[in-house]
Amino acid sequence: NETVYAIASGKGGVGKTTTTVNLGTALAEAGERVAIVDTDLGMANLAGFVSLSPDSTTLHDVLAGAASTDDATYQLADNIVAIPSGTSLDDYAETSPEGLREVVDDLRSQFDYVFLDVGAGISHETVLPLGLADAVVLVSTPEPAAVHDTTKTIELTERSGGDVAGLVLTRTRAESDISHDDLADRLEVPLLGTIPEDAAARESVYAGTPLVVYDPDGPAAVAYRQLAAELTGVA
Ligand code: ADP
Ligand code: MG
Repeated sequence: NETVYAIASGKGGVGKTTTTVNLGTALAEAGERVAIVDTDLGMANLAGFVSLSPDSTTLHDVLAGAASTDDATYQLADNIVAIPSGTSLDDYAETSPEGLREVVDDLRSQFDYVFLDVGAGISHETVLPLGLADAVVLVSTPEPAAVHDTTKTIELTERSGGDVAGLVLTRTRAESDISHDDLADRLEVPLLGTIPEDAAARESVYAGTPLVVYDPDGPAAVAYRQLAAELTGVA
């Protein structure tokens, strides 16, 4: 059974952090022990999604050898913890991502599921988590350009010896000319789920509360719980 998932995309701003937070929270609500990790070292922002203060110990301190994984682990709710990253440019400049393997191994032994929120693009700290995870969940909006950029993430995953679990389409509206299945077919990966455009997603970030808690019966929250079940078999 796969336990460590990297949530990755080619383009930024497509819903990776939203997906990380809500898949994790949905599984925690189902009784699984979950850790969500902000490995988007350059543009860290997971902490804000869950009302964590960014000035405490972070993954950057752990990677710099100045703290343990435990020191940077924060309980969010029953069954779920977060490991946030630092948000300053100085944090980033002083960090090398190599220590991430040890952090992931550490978490793997303590939790049922670990979700790595991966930075967009093709830099070193983006590629590393793709090979550390048991499976990579590709996130894209249905825009052709975003889907196209996903091909690079697939290629990088293969090059780093990782496996692709499939594609999640986010911020979908009524299907237009290209069907969601066709988009996944183009990438030759399974379609794991679709998350509809839902104003509550943005509102939940302002509220610092996961969407599946903020608006549990809304369309995107329902879709995230379905995705969690599809991905892991946990209902
Ligand atoms: P990434 O981590 O890939 O950069 P985010 O998860 O931060 O993307 O999402 C980018 C923006 O899109 C955020 O403002 C978020 O609230 C919004 N968003 C994400 N998913 C949805 C959705 N299903 N409906 C509406 N807005 C969304
Ligand atoms: Mg993000």
